[in-house]
Amino acid sequence: MKTTIKNGYYGKFGGTYIPELLYNNVNELCSRYEEIISNNAFKKEFELLLKDYVGRPTPLYFSKNLSMKYNTNIYLKREDLNHTGAHKINNALGQALLAKKLGKNKIVAETGAGQHGVATATACALLGMSCVVFMGATDIARQAPNVARMKMLGATIVPSVSGTKTLKDATNDAIRYWINNAEDTHYIIGSVVGPHPYPDMVAKFQSIISKEIKIQLKKAIGNAEPDYVIACIGGGSNAAGAFYHFLDSKKTKLIGAEAAGKGIHTHESAATLALGKEGIIHGSKTYLMQNKDGQITEPYSISAGLDYPGIGPLHAHLFESKKATYYSITDMEAIDSAKELIKLDGIIPALESAHAFAVLAKQKFKKSDVVVINLSGRGDKDLDTYLKYI
Ligand SMILES: *Cc1c(COP(=O)(O)O)cnc(C)c1O
Repeated sequence: MKTTIKNGYYGKFGGTYIPELLYNNVNELCSRYEEIISNNAFKKEFELLLKDYVGRPTPLYFSKNLSMKYNTNIYLKREDLNHTGAHKINNALGQALLAKKLGKNKIVAETGAGQHGVATATACALLGMSCVVFMGATDIARQAPNVARMKMLGATIVPSVSGTKTLKDATNDAIRYWINNAEDTHYIIGSVVGPHPYPDMVAKFQSIISKEIKIQLKKAIGNAEPDYVIACIGGGSNAAGAFYHFLDSKKTKLIGAEAAGKGIHTHESAATLALGKEGIIHGSKTYLMQNKDGQITEPYSISAGLDYPGIGPLHAHLFESKKATYYSITDMEAIDSAKELIKLDGIIPALESAHAFAVLAKQKFKKSDVVVINLSGRGDKDLDTYLKYI
């Protein structure tokens, strides 16, 4: 399969661009992650936790009301029903278990909306590990409920105060912390970004999403492959998980929704594929938003989880090879889609996930099409923002 990782690269994207002080840690991960996560005892332990602790499999819900509205067949993959409220827990638990096997009992993580921070703090509480989470000061202010949760779960929250004080800045600080604590600490990255093997490792932990979709769709309609899978993209992990087992499908079309913020021509945007160029960010070669001197442009999105100037190398490759299509969705389009989902189905989505639903109004579907939207998380953390618009 052309879309699989080869020597740490998806096509020309990916790789391992790291400071020398991280060589040992990243090399150790590279040489051991596949053996550890494919070990039967590890798989058993992870799968049991996904089932009884996280609550998997998450339902694949046929939305009669959205299907009527868009005159097609729309299924929602309910990652919002996971313990801690989003897909992030799949990866956080997997990596925390892996860290244990590597003999590391201390965890550092970055977080944007706070969902990855909460998932990581949760995994650390469960497994008796210590947890430091870097979070941009802007995000700390706009995602207060998740900050409170992380503190209750015993994590130490460190505000990042450089740049726009958002996800990119928190990631820089988390990497810096890892460099200074490389001996005993594992860095749990929250998306399919960072140096190899992170993009592949995180995609594998999230691939449970498309594995379940296939089984559930086969049971529901007798065919495991939908016509479309749609997911929002920050770094791209929920999309990678939802796409994973369809990457080789001749039938299934893959659609990503990135955050256009106030619009791609407004300079207040996080639409990396629409606006970015090839470059290196956080250890990997990918698309990123940059000025003509190659300096990273500060991103903007209403949604803290999508407010990132890069994108996972898998998506850069799917974009360039046209194996997936990507839409840029503005703040207001996302808000309108959230309103529609709340009104028609009684589901309050995360602001991030709302971007995926905005694709429904932009893409033409046939009446017979089967469309799966990955509902990556629930909107509890976003109530303050929603109340300003609804
Ligand atoms: C973190 C987050 C995202 C964005 O991250 P990806 O790695 O692109 O999935 C999307 N939705 C929710 C609910 C999130 O918490």
